[in-house]
Amino acid sequence: MTVRVRFAPSPTGHLHIGSVRTALFNFLYARHHGGDFVLRIEDTDTNRNIEGAELAFLDGFRWLGMKWDEGTDIGGPYAPYRCMERLDIYREHVVKLLDKGIAYPCFCTDEELAQQREAAEREGRVPRYSGVCYRLSEAERQEKIAQGIPHSIRFHVPENRELVVDDLVRGQVTFNSSDIGDYVIVKSNGIPTYNFQVVVDDAAMKITHVIRAEEHLSNTPRQILVFQAFGYDIPKFAHLPIVLDQHRKKLSKRDPSVLPIQKYEELGYVPHAIINFLALLGWSPEGEQELFDLESLASQFDLDRISKAGAVFDVDKLNWMANQY
Ligand code: GLU
Repeated sequence: MTVRVRFAPSPTGHLHIGSVRTALFNFLYARHHGGDFVLRIEDTDTNRNIEGAELAFLDGFRWLGMKWDEGTDIGGPYAPYRCMERLDIYREHVVKLLDKGIAYPCFCTDEELAQQREAAEREGRVPRYSGVCYRLSEAERQEKIAQGIPHSIRFHVPENRELVVDDLVRGQVTFNSSDIGDYVIVKSNGIPTYNFQVVVDDAAMKITHVIRAEEHLSNTPRQILVFQAFGYDIPKFAHLPIVLDQHRKKLSKRDPSVLPIQKYEELGYVPHAIINFLALLGWSPEGEQELFDLESLASQFDLDRISKAGAVFDVDKLNWMANQY
């Protein structure tokens, strides 16, 4: 089996140190196993996309020497995949789920959804979608569609199913499907949501290992349900420990010590120092060695020495490393 990994940033902000670490771990894992590293720009949250963000990502990648192995021919041979150029693929997939009755149109307005949420909270229930549109008859659905009522598409989640994420870093993490509720996979503007798009793409791109930030662990059961609905192989997951500041609080993107990657270049840091520093943020090699080049990192890197505990971003350490090169 060829290892295939991907880094899938949303172009909603700068390429900051936490994302570069995720990209680097994917890159090193692919290199270590002679596999492929795919770069995919997840630009479906169109209201939050920032002009120029993709270009800045690509510049950052080039500066750091992290080459990706494949991409689209739309916009040049080295362009990464971009989700907004793949809408037809998602549409085909949605039709399959609609045909199977696993997905259905939801006509609830934002106000109705807010009322459902409030009612659930008042009654001490998990605030999840009530399922009212799931219970509509086919005739009722067709009538509403004929009336042109805007609708999203929801994925129907079966009740009381145990969903186990077998995570290479966290071990087995169990979720119950009843806590999830039917969730939106296509917004009323026809654009898929992350939890659906990501599965269609990971399957289409034959991704074998999903290595990403810990914040996505709670999304994983939703994604597993979509993999199962299509009968696709489920990739292995590895959720990376969060990055902490020096007070062991979650590092905020607004923290003054967190600079967009381009800033480090402007400040005269060599890419090697950044790579070396980030590789050790949550991963520890065997032995005491602290300074590595990209090749030796790739030869040693694996997922079994990633820590579960948060990794502390220590600027002094970064500066010490920068002085070694
Ligand atoms: N687009 C997601 C993000 O930027 C990536 C999530 C994933 O790797 O699955 O957080």
